[in-house]
Amino acid sequence: MPRKIAAGNWKMNGLRADLDQLDSVADALGDHPPQVIICLPATLLALAAERATSGLLIGAQDCHAETHGAFTGDIAASMIADSRASHVIVGHSERRAAHNETNADVRRKIEAAWNAGLTAILCIGESAEDRDGGQTLDVIGTQLAGSLPDAATDENIVIAYEPIWAIGTGQQAEPAQIAEVHDYIRAKLTDRFGRPLADSIPLLYGGSVKASNAAAIFGIANVDGALVGGASLTAADFSPIVTALAES
Ligand code: PEP
Repeated sequence: MPRKIAAGNWKMNGLRADLDQLDSVADALGDHPPQVIICLPATLLALAAERATSGLLIGAQDCHAETHGAFTGDIAASMIADSRASHVIVGHSERRAAHNETNADVRRKIEAAWNAGLTAILCIGESAEDRDGGQTLDVIGTQLAGSLPDAATDENIVIAYEPIWAIGTGQQAEPAQIAEVHDYIRAKLTDRFGRPLADSIPLLYGGSVKASNAAAIFGIANVDGALVGGASLTAADFSPIVTALAES
């Protein structure tokens, strides 16, 4: 069985004072919590990790594929690890769109993350046009094949299926849509890596997850947790999602 994971993506939100939310999330963890990873802006990584809020892991939202050099404004995977964060999101659709990141770019970032000892949270997902055109599974298959390196293990990779049209829109994917894509990803992983590895890689759903829909989403086969944007910013919104996952 894959481990259960509730991951938050704060995107470009959060100042030092907002780290109090992490303490509240930690305080609300029950006896058998899932893995909880909060992916913060780079400015807060070390502060959050040093705060040593028990039970939470800290992640970044992107890394550069190179180890160091003349890349103004970018952040290397080793810098993320040095801040004591353990995870990094790669290939989020907002970065694929705004920074023209290709599957090959994402693959190199994952390799850089692994070289620094980080676990990568790989985001894949189709656009509304892809779905309307019946291309969803082809797009997912191409993204998975192109961006996931061969050396994947159940410790170094987490895969997040995030339909672009569901991110930040309040329009979550239907359970049948989520089930179809998650089953497809699991099947592709099985083709490529075989069992038991393919069965143990965590698959998260992301896209307008909130307290009111979390339990239903976590009841879907091959959904091992969620990557949560807007509803991860406050403990009041995020903790019920973590609890729903623990109870699923
Ligand atoms: C995301 O950005 O990864 C995300 C899933 O956002 P939201 O939960 O706000 O849709």
